Amino acid sequence: MFADRFKIISDKIKAARERSLHSAGREVRLVAVSKTHPPESILEALECGVNVFGENRLQEAKAKIQRLPSRCHWHFIGHLQKNKIRQALPLFELIHGVDSLAIAKDIDRIASELGLFPKILLEVNVAGEETKFGFSPAVLRAQMEEIRKLARLQIEGLMTIPPPAPTPEDSRKHFVALRHLRGELESEFALTLPELSMGMSDDFEVAIEEGATLVRIGTALFGSRSGKTWRPEETDSLDD
Ligand SMILES: *Cc1c(COP(=O)(O)O)cnc(C)c1O
Repeated sequence: MFADRFKIISDKIKAARERSLHSAGREVRLVAVSKTHPPESILEALECGVNVFGENRLQEAKAKIQRLPSRCHWHFIGHLQKNKIRQALPLFELIHGVDSLAIAKDIDRIASELGLFPKILLEVNVAGEETKFGFSPAVLRAQMEEIRKLARLQIEGLMTIPPPAPTPEDSRKHFVALRHLRGELESEFALTLPELSMGMSDDFEVAIEEGATLVRIGTALFGSRSGKTWRPEETDSLDD
């Protein structure tokens, strides 16, 4: 049952928040990662009081958003492709994974055309894995001045997905690195970056201890994923 899993997770979030020396009075918000799960599962979550959902495929998210009550809030947590920006911006309250200067510029330009001021997080690849999306810390420092000039973007903070690790403790150093980078950017560029989106099913408690304000939890709430995207019955395919 969703309600049972949600209770366990909520208690763990609360306890980790109380243990944290780095929460600085900030709230921790749960993003329930509903990708691949059907609208019925999302309704069940909504009934338990969960109302922020994370999706990583535009077409799948669109189909769900159409079918679910407007009190659902949607966050985009995947890699946003250039050709999806125009459709995505009106649907999502927060884009977690802005991962290059080029995509930041495209979002800014399209937001201007649409009359929007999207909230975004900058995705940082703190472990420096070459195959991953995200800014390296050095590149982000070098490009921050240019990014902050993009007048349409509301830069709320940073996001990271650490490399897979055998235990949650192994991810701690990456969460610490993201928090330190936030501090450096804030003082160097006179910014405030209140949000740190870090922590998933396996490591959200460690992430909260290190200052996460948004945890993205899928499996621990909804159960394991089939691997396939959810699609409405009346369609054969979604182009995403
Ligand atoms: C799928 C996904 C999650 C959730 O992962 P779980 O391990 O199922 O909690 C979190 N963040 C991102 C970016 C994801 O793609």
